[in-house]
Parts: sequence; structure tokens; C-alpha cells
Amino acid sequence: MKLIETAAAKTAGKIVRTSATAVLDVLLPPRCPACGGSVVSTGALCAKCWAAINFIDGPVCRTCGLPFDYDEGVDVQCGVCLRDPPAYVAGRSVMHYGDACRDLILGFKHGDHTDAAPMFGGWLYRVGKPLLKRDMMVVPVPLHRWRLFSRRYNQSALLAQALVQFDKQSPARFSLIGKPDLLVRRKRTRTQGGLSARARRLNVRGAFAVRPRYRNQLRGRDILLIDDVMTTGATLDACCKTLSKAGAASVSVLTLARVVRPAF
Ligand SMILES: [Zn+2]
Ligand SMILES: [Zn+2]
Repeated sequence: MKLIETAAAKTAGKIVRTSATAVLDVLLPPRCPACGGSVVSTGALCAKCWAAINFIDGPVCRTCGLPFDYDEGVDVQCGVCLRDPPAYVAGRSVMHYGDACRDLILGFKHGDHTDAAPMFGGWLYRVGKPLLKRDMMVVPVPLHRWRLFSRRYNQSALLAQALVQFDKQSPARFSLIGKPDLLVRRKRTRTQGGLSARARRLNVRGAFAVRPRYRNQLRGRDILLIDDVMTTGATLDACCKTLSKAGAASVSVLTLARVVRPAF
């Protein structure tokens, strides 16, 4: 009886929530998460922003996912990966970090445009598919708890959750397992903006740790690390090293955007 009551209460809650969303949709017409212009459905881009986003869909470095201007053939690595291989097995990003993308990500990070998460989940799934393995653990780059408190949510955790959710609805399920709190940021690092590559590495050295209760679960597992933007890769590298040291079998990296500098 109790079980039925609980189920009924849950359904009722769902109905209330669904109708609340419907009411909100009527009161507030759906907005483009990048420019705020009106769109047909919640969580979709307007045609102008869609056209302005520079998706990475051509040939890439097989290790870090750096887009190449020309098709260099399959299984090719960029010069940086050849000289100084990253701590992850493979990395991919959905789009170039440009003006339209910046608005979209800042809106998601600071502007409460969390309704864009399901759209991002689908994008991440499509681009990240070559990296996915069965029963892979999906782990977001964590925020320090003070920053989490002021920002109220971790945008990378929302992306990770949206990806796991998308996998659940996909016919080719990988049974991805979301572990939003597996990593913890134990050092309150300054923001990486404006720092040189070397300073960024030093800034995040020793900043991450595996939460003790996950230490056993993590051993021998394949991990997919999620972040919103890859800049120099210093933060992702620090997280990967922490995960590998703790016994992860492999760590791959998937981000929504990536700063692409001219090749050298
Ligand atoms: Zn727009
Ligand atoms: Zn590379």
C-alpha cells in the first residue's frame, strides 16, 4: 500500500512539475540560449547562432582532437602530442571556442541557461562516440565548494549528466555511469584566464583528489572526463593524472568547446 502511495505521489509530483513547465513556457516564450532571441522550442539555438557556431567536424589529431586544416590521413597526431603526449588516451571537443560559442557557454555557466543542457548532451554524445566504452564512468571536472556555492551549479556536472541521460535514450547504449562527485577540488585555485601555459600547470598542480569512498570503484575502470572548455588542457591534464594515479584503466576527455591556436 505504502509503495502504491509513494508511486502515486511521485506521479502526482511529476504531473505538477510538467504542468509547471508548460505554464512557464506559455508565460516565458522559449529563448535562444546564446543570444536570447525567440526560438520555437526550449533549449534550441536560433538559426543565426546555429550558423555562427563553428563545429569541429573535419579531420582531427587522433590523440587530442585538434582540428587539422587539411586531411592528413587517418591515425595522425599533431606536433604537440608527438612531442609531449597528454595524460589522457584521447580527447574530443564539439566546437571551436569563438564569439558565438563564448556567448552560449557563458549563458550556460552564469546566465542560468541550463535548459540548453539536453542539446549539449546530444552534441557531446555524437562527437564523443569514438571514445565511449561500455560501463564507462562519466566524471565532470569539479568546482571548488566556495565557487559552487556562489554559482549554485557546476556546468560540467550538468554536461556530464546530460550525456549520461542521452545515452540512456540512445539505441546503441553504452550504459554510461554518471559519477558527478568522484573528483573533488581541494585547492581553491585562481581562474586560469590570463595565465601562461606554465602558470596554468602550476596553478592546478595537486588541486584535485578522488573522493575516498570511490577509491575502490575507480580501480581498473575506463573514465570519461567532462569539461565545458579546453584551453591549454592544464586542468584536464591534472585531473587525468589524479585519476590514473588512483588506478583508472584509461581516461579520455570530452569538452563542449576548445580553444584552437594556430598550429606550430
Ligand atoms: Zn541565437
Ligand atoms: Zn594532438
